[in-house]
Amino acid sequence: MNAFFHIDDARRLDAQDALGHFRAEFHLPIWNNQEVIYLTGNSLGLQPKGTAAAIQQELEDWKNLGVEGHFHATNPWMPYHEFLTPSLARLAGALPSEVVAMGSLTANLHFAMASFYRPTADRPCILAEAKAFPSDRYALVSQLQQHGYGEAELIEVHGTASDGVPSDEDLLAAIERHGHRVCTLLVGGVNYFTGRVYDMARITATARAKGILVGWDLAHAMGNVPLKLHDWGVDFAAWCSYKYLNSGPGSTAGLYVHERHHGAEVHRLAGWWGHNKESRFKMGPTFEPIASAEAWQVSNAPVLSMAAQKASLALFDQMDLNAHRVKGLDLAGRCMAMLDAIAEELHEPLEILTPRDDAQRGCQVSVKFAQRDRRFFESLVEQGVVADWREPGTIRMSFIPFYNSYSDLARLEQILRQSLTA
Ligand SMILES: *Cc1c(COP(=O)(O)O)cnc(C)c1O
Repeated sequence: MNAFFHIDDARRLDAQDALGHFRAEFHLPIWNNQEVIYLTGNSLGLQPKGTAAAIQQELEDWKNLGVEGHFHATNPWMPYHEFLTPSLARLAGALPSEVVAMGSLTANLHFAMASFYRPTADRPCILAEAKAFPSDRYALVSQLQQHGYGEAELIEVHGTASDGVPSDEDLLAAIERHGHRVCTLLVGGVNYFTGRVYDMARITATARAKGILVGWDLAHAMGNVPLKLHDWGVDFAAWCSYKYLNSGPGSTAGLYVHERHHGAEVHRLAGWWGHNKESRFKMGPTFEPIASAEAWQVSNAPVLSMAAQKASLALFDQMDLNAHRVKGLDLAGRCMAMLDAIAEELHEPLEILTPRDDAQRGCQVSVKFAQRDRRFFESLVEQGVVADWREPGTIRMSFIPFYNSYSDLARLEQILRQSLTA
């Protein structure tokens, strides 16, 4: 069979790959005695081999120490979230005081909006992208309703391209046009459907110049693309950790709040874990916020799931983030070139929804097969390809620099060709 990307070339590239050794740090699911081609790290990252031991450590300390583990566990539980802070700050491009591991993504968006969506009669609106992740839209509409507004005050920016996802220019034009009525902007930094990466620096600066508070949903951005939240001046951001951060299903999420908002005067939905650490256990009646993003924590830290995150972040700590970016772009770029070649050779009508420009993409490739239905996708799955299918006809795949290989890509091509010509 023909191949655009030969398995021998793929093996050679794998042998030369300076990040290739990271693959052995992860459990790859095995189906039919073969490692799967795992392309859903944008949905649930694979389990690092260090995760089980990290959780086991906390189970042992709980077993042996009971409540004393809060202070005397190997990794004391009381400040447990602090162990994650330096790694998260590096990935977010933030000061350590600006990030905190806490909660879950949608809940964190609500907590952030409680502080950063404070509408006035002149500025009642929220600006978001059309076709946002459904949970984000539900959250935003309920935030509007909470303040006596409704969908009329949700400005959803539509795109001019066929996928309906707005471009940077579409968002910037909407900010120019509607900015004076907008209280808060909340957009996914990387679009979950197409993998488009926004120019967060430029959009943030433009919106802030119009007096808008700027937040980013980084579900598909943290651990995928370079971030400089502090330097960009972003007001707030939230992410989950089970996608690119490989921290396990439903694991602890994260929140970023720029240091300009760390003062006691900021309105927050409060809980005891956000209270000044020195006096928290005096159990006084009045909330005194910690002067950092930690002030948004409401509850004590979920140590077992944070242990999984700690194990995963230890691998990020060893990762050269420039090399990570280069490899993700390269794998995804080669996948797009391979799809182009197949489309031409087999006369298969397909549309790559992911922008081609490196600056506008991460390691995800979304491709729409105009004439294929779910049976096509299922034949890929039967052959060991784990990807994501969205009607109509769209397959989303992510090439994770930690554990995806060039051989994965060559095998994917063989299977695609087989399924398309069957
Ligand atoms: C994955 C994802 C979510 C999921 O929210 P949870 O609260 O973690 O269930 C929300 N928004 C976006 C943009 C996502 O990609």
